[in-house]
Amino acid sequence: MLNTKQIVNIAWNKKFVIPAFNIPYLPMMKAVIDAVRDENSFALVQVARLEWEKFESKSLKAVRDEYECWKDEKHVRLHLDHVPVLDEDKLFVDYMTIIDEAIALGYESLMIDGSRLSLQDNIEATKEVCMVAHQAGLACEAELGAVLGHESGPLPPYDEIFESGEGFTRVDEAAKFVEETGCDWLSVAIGNIHGAISEGTRGQKKLAARLDVQHLKALKDITNIPLVLHGGSGIRNEYILDAINNGIAKINVGTEIRQAYEREMEKGDKEAGRKAVYTKTREIIKEQYMISGTADIISAAGKI
Ligand SMILES: [Zn+2]
Repeated sequence: MLNTKQIVNIAWNKKFVIPAFNIPYLPMMKAVIDAVRDENSFALVQVARLEWEKFESKSLKAVRDEYECWKDEKHVRLHLDHVPVLDEDKLFVDYMTIIDEAIALGYESLMIDGSRLSLQDNIEATKEVCMVAHQAGLACEAELGAVLGHESGPLPPYDEIFESGEGFTRVDEAAKFVEETGCDWLSVAIGNIHGAISEGTRGQKKLAARLDVQHLKALKDITNIPLVLHGGSGIRNEYILDAINNGIAKINVGTEIRQAYEREMEKGDKEAGRKAVYTKTREIIKEQYMISGTADIISAAGKI
């Protein structure tokens, strides 16, 4: 069986993307996996710490158990999304305990997020987690730059952030970071933003983000590892396809499928919620990322 690092590398080399779908509610798991399989595509399913703390995915173990019920190795792997060192409420997190637990539970790749720290502190925390992940045979994703949106309170005006490039992953820092940490994939800030998660704002329509693809290309050239785009929901399609051609091999999708679920759940209809997630996930795979059929490309590459 190919591991997740090999799979993401295949996508990166062949210029298609592996989407990573977030599971803030456990019943979304089956709907997402069914959709990926029915498009004969390949995806990761993932959970971030804030989704068991602030949404209803309960725990690392609950997500793992749900995954075990529906997993299909031709089409999906389980990834641990954002484990922040300093979280969205500016509190320090006992990140190593979470990482150790995820490895013991059988998560197949993971992410450490030190992006709210100074460059040097981010390097140190990331390096430590990469060593632990690599010892367990897992790929480790890291983040450099500020992908905003999870914090409570209003965002600065989007156009101002974009025009100034404030918080974008710096090219010189990215080179140093990747070399010193040994991370396998890097989440970059190039205009992308996370969907709002605080109570009262989480149902709002996400603004249409743009991407600085020239900047992305510079990051790709200097780091030479697969890059990750967080905040995939709501970015205009032509930017996404351009980004996939310029180094993005994994794209995180949270808000779009979560809101599809929540809209139905407000009416109290769990089955309709699941159907909405299934339909939206298929649409994203087929129409937005155009990656129907990638499971066969991956399987074929694995047999060489
Ligand atoms: Zn993210």
